[in-house]
Amino acid sequence: MSGVRVRFAPSPTGFFHIGSARTALFNWLYARHTGGVFVLRIEDTDKERNTEEALQVLLDGMKWLGLEWDEGPGIGGDSGPYFQSDRSGIYHEYLQKLQDSGRTYEKDGATFFRLEGERYTEYDEYKKCDVEKVRAAPQVIDDRVRGRVERAEEKDFVIIRSNGEPVFHFVNVVDDIEMGITHVIRGEDHLSNTSKHCELFHAFGVEPPVFAHIPLILKSSGPGKMSKRDEGALIEEYQKNQFLPAAVRNYLCLLGWSPKDDREVMPINEIIERFDFDGINQGNARFDEKKMAHINAEYIRELPLETLAWMVSPILVEEGLVDNSTDEDYLQDVLRISQEKMTALSSLRQLIGFFFTDDYKFDEKTKDRIFKKGDPIKRVEELLEYLENIEKFTVQNIDLIIEEHSACNGFKKFEYFPVARFAVSGAGGGPDLLPMLEVLGKERVVTRLSRFIDYASNLSSS
Ligand code: GLU
Repeated sequence: MSGVRVRFAPSPTGFFHIGSARTALFNWLYARHTGGVFVLRIEDTDKERNTEEALQVLLDGMKWLGLEWDEGPGIGGDSGPYFQSDRSGIYHEYLQKLQDSGRTYEKDGATFFRLEGERYTEYDEYKKCDVEKVRAAPQVIDDRVRGRVERAEEKDFVIIRSNGEPVFHFVNVVDDIEMGITHVIRGEDHLSNTSKHCELFHAFGVEPPVFAHIPLILKSSGPGKMSKRDEGALIEEYQKNQFLPAAVRNYLCLLGWSPKDDREVMPINEIIERFDFDGINQGNARFDEKKMAHINAEYIRELPLETLAWMVSPILVEEGLVDNSTDEDYLQDVLRISQEKMTALSSLRQLIGFFFTDDYKFDEKTKDRIFKKGDPIKRVEELLEYLENIEKFTVQNIDLIIEEHSACNGFKKFEYFPVARFAVSGAGGGPDLLPMLEVLGKERVVTRLSRFIDYASNLSSS
């Protein structure tokens, strides 16, 4: 154990925002990189918003991304409880310490934290009144991402609201002290809170932890932070859309951190090894949907065939394309020749649905293209005749026979390919044609070619 203790301290809202996930991830990476401990602490002091479901969304998302925590809900640990709602006794003790040292006072029913320094009044144009300010010594934050940040608090601030509820700044600092947190890695939006936090640490006689404020995630275009309404902002969406969790995690690593050599797809062990504060960018990160999709596609293509089959089967069952009677070898063959062309598991039906059902759609655009030139019906009739005569329906034999006959008829064999593909799959693209025909098998191919002739003849006569 390295002594490093980091924490992810979400307030459950019912969503697992990509920004929170990235904060969790960077904490997890740092813990794994240093051999430290990753704590999950639930900051659930806002009673209205903190429901059981909201918590579940968060825990599911973390597990899905593989960000297992070493201490926290469901696991326990020496620094529990890990829900702020269960820690009021601890907050009372800490409040007492501040009261004993004269650092608090009551006003309008709330408890304020008193800053130390020279007091003076200033006329506030905006509020049109005199306000009391304090010339407190600036807090110096040696932020591991932002560099040296100096900020002086000017006003005493509330730590316990008039309804008795403790304020975020207070409980956050108390917990970081009690849980022995050594490094606080969190979103840059919290940088402005850090001077308050340092005031509190010092009031408790504790050296503040190391801070690293990580850049914001901007929406894919234009100014502004990614909000929960932006597409791609919620981890739940990726779960629902069958993204590979490892791919999403890999992409999130690149949102604000870079290995400095332009690499994108990297095994997580290598990222863990290389992850450090030096690699975290100061500038904001911009969400890039295309890059996310690209990385996901790369991960799909690199899956071992068996893993792919294991992942894809339930999706195909759900789509009604396969069931218990589907031949395992056939499924494996389909995946073997299609994997290279897969970009997203959510679009499996478009790519490989026709292998499992005769009820596939003919793509309109491809149809227009096919019927615009040559004589597609004639070509398919010829194909049907050649293919029916093949005994062993293999790539080599199919290739050979089309080659031979097309030469006799004065055509290039590639004049048969687009229409053949369209006839047996309804699409303009997909796996390579010859392996596709071989895997479909002679019977299906022959039936589909004949059916196409009827379909096309009807089209041209209507
Ligand atoms: N509950 C705070 C949040 O969700 C935690 C801030 C922190 O990490 O210190 O933003």
